[in-house]
Amino acid sequence: LGSTYRLFSEEYGRSSIDGAGRPLEATVHYGTGYDNAFWDGGRMVFGDGDGEIFGRFTASLTVISHELTHGFTQYSTNLEYQGQSGALNESLSDVFGVLVEQRELRQDAADASWLVGAGIFTAQVQGEALRSLRAPGTAYDDDVLGKDPQPATMADYVETTSDNGGVHINSGIPNHAFYLAATALGGQAWEGAGRIWYDAVLGGTIPPDCDFPAFARATVGAAEKRFGAGSPEAGAVTGAWSQVGVLP
Ligand SMILES: [Zn+2]
Repeated sequence: LGSTYRLFSEEYGRSSIDGAGRPLEATVHYGTGYDNAFWDGGRMVFGDGDGEIFGRFTASLTVISHELTHGFTQYSTNLEYQGQSGALNESLSDVFGVLVEQRELRQDAADASWLVGAGIFTAQVQGEALRSLRAPGTAYDDDVLGKDPQPATMADYVETTSDNGGVHINSGIPNHAFYLAATALGGQAWEGAGRIWYDAVLGGTIPPDCDFPAFARATVGAAEKRFGAGSPEAGAVTGAWSQVGVLP
């Protein structure tokens, strides 16, 4: 929790998740063998896992920071947890989740794993993590768990009614766009692409039912505002959304 707090406060000048110094609260060892972690609207809750597929959810810094970022998103944009706005909500948690870890390890974009939830599977599971921003769809492929269902581009967008319209599935597309923008810019991702995504979220142009193209335009606008129209940053962000098929 401390490293997530430090990314938002030291890099972006935000006082806690609500911008007003809200204390961070969490419940750990939730339930018995509970296979998940979640933000309940006021605090984070982490299970211990069943020991067969999942181990402790607090074992992964990216899982902890993912859940805490749901709090930040709730207080800033309140993206509806359904369809594309829900996938953007999930993606923001993955993006800031990996940025917290990268900043903690002082990793450049080129050296980072770009994995969410590395280390929470038990040894029986064929998989390295829950999700990959570098290569969505490749995080795991297991007899019991199945295969990572995430698409990387709009060409493979999944139309479904389950998972609130695929919020944990189609989040692979904005996740991959962030990865492409960050690696095109190089260096420390929390300073360039991360700052742009943060500005976009707080820029006041993200409606609760925001779709992928509207969010993409908000990040391009944020890059132009901070770094200038025609800047390498604005070009990298536009190029990234174009590569995943969200912008032309
Ligand atoms: Zn989530």
